Amino acid sequence: MAEREVRLPGCAACGKVRFPPLDSCPYCGQPGGEEKVLSGVGTVYSFIVLHRTFHPAFEADLPFAIAVVDLEDGPRIAARIEGPPEAVSIGMRVAATYFDRESWTELRFTAHDN
Ligand SMILES: [Zn+2]
Repeated sequence: MAEREVRLPGCAACGKVRFPPLDSCPYCGQPGGEEKVLSGVGTVYSFIVLHRTFHPAFEADLPFAIAVVDLEDGPRIAARIEGPPEAVSIGMRVAATYFDRESWTELRFTAHDN
């Protein structure tokens, strides 16, 4: 069952959260660490608008935006922004939202007021 949380490994030595989830910290080299639950709130660093896809399953969704998001309490990650792509802008505040698919849950972002 999807838990609808943004979780990433955090470093026990320097406290930084990493993505992708590596076995050791890329900032200080400390192995291991514990998963942290993040707020899922962030800011759009950059984005693109897709007008064609490489898989027919996504054709009905076109066009849509994929953004690189700076999480306020974590690293930069990429995901789809829900809503019309013309509403997406660099610096826009976004929050995590979750889209259930048949066997997995997709992390997406949606506009966030604060
Ligand atoms: Zn570290």
